[in-house]
Amino acid sequence: PESQNYLLSSIRSIPDYPKPGIIFRDITTLLGDARAFRRAVDELVQPYVGLKVDKIAGMEARGFILGGAVAHQLSAGFVPIRKKGKLPHETVRIAYSLEYGVDEMEIHMDAVKPGEKVILVDDLIATGGTAVGAVQLLRQIGADVVSACFVIDLPELGGRKKLEALGVEVRTLVEFE
Ligand code: 5GP
Repeated sequence: PESQNYLLSSIRSIPDYPKPGIIFRDITTLLGDARAFRRAVDELVQPYVGLKVDKIAGMEARGFILGGAVAHQLSAGFVPIRKKGKLPHETVRIAYSLEYGVDEMEIHMDAVKPGEKVILVDDLIATGGTAVGAVQLLRQIGADVVSACFVIDLPELGGRKKLEALGVEVRTLVEFE
């Protein structure tokens, strides 16, 4: 559809970044285009309008930009999931797999109350390693992760299936091979 084409064409593709053979999907061009940014946020929000959503959880760093806007539109709170060492209060930490190697991310222990309904937001899902780690962290602190949404899906990398296998509904707006 026309709106998907508009979103797709607002995303810039950078060959050989961050390393040779990888095409990086750069959303700074989407964010800098007022119409594309609004459309992306509106489309992320639309399936959740009228549902009970307590909090949006966003992954550092692009998940903060989109997740903050989604939280505002749903009148939900916002919870940051950060790289290790950045959050000041008591945290829960988890190792997660990247394309090459592992890293660790954290969430504040008291960021959600047990049973609160949380939606995870990020710009892109590839292998799903980041999002799976985020779901595990949220569940460890008692969240009910009802859904996860992303602007971009790279379906060949299988992230959606991994999240769905954890019982999390996945919504995405555009795909790249
Ligand atoms: P995954 O953990 O699913 O393999 O990778 C997704 C994470 O890496 C997301 O947090 C996303 O922001 C980042 N990421 C990986 N590749 C890209 C890309 O091509 N473009 C953008 N914008 N983010 C990417």
